[in-house]
Amino acid sequence: MKYYSLNKKSDSVSFKEALINGLAPDKGLYFPSNIKRLSSSFFDNLTAMSNSEIAFNSIKQFIGNEIPEKKLLEIIEETINFDFPLVEINNNLSFIELFHGPTMAFKDVGARFMSRCLGYFISQSSTKQNFTVLVATSGDTGGAVASGFYDIEGVNVVILYPSGKVSEVQEKQLTTLGKNITALEIDGTFDDCQSMVKNAFLDSEITNKLNLTSANSINIGRWLPQMFYFFFAYRDYKLKNKDKISFSVPSGNFGNICAGMMTKKIGLPIDKFIASNNLNNVVERYLKNGLYKPKNTIHTISNAMDVGNPSNFIRISELYNNKLIDLKADLFAYSYSDSSTISSIKELIDDFDYIADPHAAIGYLGAKEFINLHPKANCIILETAHPIKFTKVIQGLNIKLKIPTQVESILEKKKKSIFIKNYESFKNYLIDS
Ligand SMILES: *Cc1c(COP(=O)(O)O)cnc(C)c1O
Repeated sequence: MKYYSLNKKSDSVSFKEALINGLAPDKGLYFPSNIKRLSSSFFDNLTAMSNSEIAFNSIKQFIGNEIPEKKLLEIIEETINFDFPLVEINNNLSFIELFHGPTMAFKDVGARFMSRCLGYFISQSSTKQNFTVLVATSGDTGGAVASGFYDIEGVNVVILYPSGKVSEVQEKQLTTLGKNITALEIDGTFDDCQSMVKNAFLDSEITNKLNLTSANSINIGRWLPQMFYFFFAYRDYKLKNKDKISFSVPSGNFGNICAGMMTKKIGLPIDKFIASNNLNNVVERYLKNGLYKPKNTIHTISNAMDVGNPSNFIRISELYNNKLIDLKADLFAYSYSDSSTISSIKELIDDFDYIADPHAAIGYLGAKEFINLHPKANCIILETAHPIKFTKVIQGLNIKLKIPTQVESILEKKKKSIFIKNYESFKNYLIDS
């Protein structure tokens, strides 16, 4: 499979090159040059298929013959070796819980898939070059990348996180692994972390010494495997005899929902998509008035969705040949304030005995608003992270959360990080490492 840059000024590349480059040289996102619908026999058999079979069939065309089938299946089986339960809360609303992986966020799926593909390509190269993955994180991404790349041969991971600005669980997830994972605790904000990473990629003293690559959410290796659980949820809902199935996706950078929309493109008969947002609502405004006007990021309690200018939206437009009218037939978008988010967490507990994290609580509000307008609809909401990762919000509500085993074991471990004051010391660390 070839991938072209959406800025159209760079050459097309293979899956492997797109995975390693992350972004094309012209700074465009990569997009598959040819998208085929899956066969009707695949859909006829869907309800009888296992997670691995579905995942393999859905992603095969995007890899082509760059990874042998047996190896690809192995990568997939390791990637999704946890549950994706569908929890029905009433007749037309369900959550699919994406937090049963090692770091309790949906980002585990993309990070685990990408790391294993990169590991495979390194093992196959004659030079056996090592790679250094640099990531800046405001919380969830770093943990998923650290865990996903842990112990992958030939890859060192350097994670930059803002000191004092991530939750305790998140910090432990970044700082307790060791081996090929190093956590740099930056004296600054998430934006400082991000700009250090950007500068490193432009700094020839660093790039002459290290093969840098990134693992952020625009990487095709993280984007495409997010299709898997849309298929799983659809299959499980179908088994309950539901029709007219729509998905409400708590969205920030719009990578997750874009993967969902790709599943429709390759034939999964999803009815509509609902992008559920906090007050960072550029897409909702665009669908209303046809003007795409990003604003500065607004900080909210659903902070993994605090994105003023979502990178992946350009891929969604491309899926619809940049025709707004076609896109509007499939995509709905709604946005909610922090106070609505809190009331919705309370409502879910009072009415359904379900504890949602702040992101899924927004997904629930979007689903409800959509169903009010489309009473025959059935909606699956993506529960994108475990509520324990957002205890500040939850504890204020006086809720008792059962501590998941992943958290228990990690909280006992000792944090190991390197404190970094400024770019110079970051650079010295990289050059000396
Ligand atoms: C990353 C994240 C999101 C947003 O996903 P996008 O793919 O960026 O739209 C939503 N919820 C949680 C918990 C996240 O970590």
